[in-house]
Amino acid sequence: MPETQADGRIYTVETLTEAPVAGDRNTIGGWPVLPGGEWPACFCGTPMVFFFQLDIPGDVPVFGGAHLLVFQCPEHDDPAFGPVQLPDRYWDAVTEPYEGRFWRFFLHTAGTPSAEADPLVDPRRLALHPAEEQVSEYGRGVAGFKVGGVPSWAQDPEHYRCSCGTDMTFLCQVPENFGFDMWPMRDRDNQAQLFLGNEVYIFACPARCHPQALWPAIQN
Ligand SMILES: [Zn+2]
Ligand SMILES: [Zn+2]
Repeated sequence: MPETQADGRIYTVETLTEAPVAGDRNTIGGWPVLPGGEWPACFCGTPMVFFFQLDIPGDVPVFGGAHLLVFQCPEHDDPAFGPVQLPDRYWDAVTEPYEGRFWRFFLHTAGTPSAEADPLVDPRRLALHPAEEQVSEYGRGVAGFKVGGVPSWAQDPEHYRCSCGTDMTFLCQVPENFGFDMWPMRDRDNQAQLFLGNEVYIFACPARCHPQALWPAIQN
């Protein structure tokens, strides 16, 4: 059975119309609050697109108070797949279907806003709203952009185990074909999307063994 948060509480994520400013912590694009200050690059050498960041609300079990960031290459954006038992340093490991890491997730409790804003994403502020999870008889939570609760699994549920031996916990869901607007690509049919616009279920290691101990389950 899927694990639910202690009180069934989730947070839905709303995209606001206004652009963020430096120092904002709940954003699409804008200024990432990076743990080490270094903007991540894809294995191909291209600076990654900064898709979004969220402060995980304090009452979310295990991860409350941490800051989540999601990056991915603008060119390399196919879905990623991994084994149930994730390998050592899977955040750096070679990853199918490419020859190296093409996304980066971070979950940390310190950091500073980058000097530069992301140049590609049309930036927006995000707002989190408390809501109640509703789990179906098939073990699926509500759809949409949310923090906590249960994935809305488009296919069968997936499970992953961190390299440290701890079962991963669901943290955040990005719905299918979510509208991350990219400035230079806006006129193209094939706008870059997070993992090709598939539904993304971000899992994190509850042992918090490393600031990049996160993994995407990707389905459509
Ligand atoms: Zn790349
Ligand atoms: Zn771990």
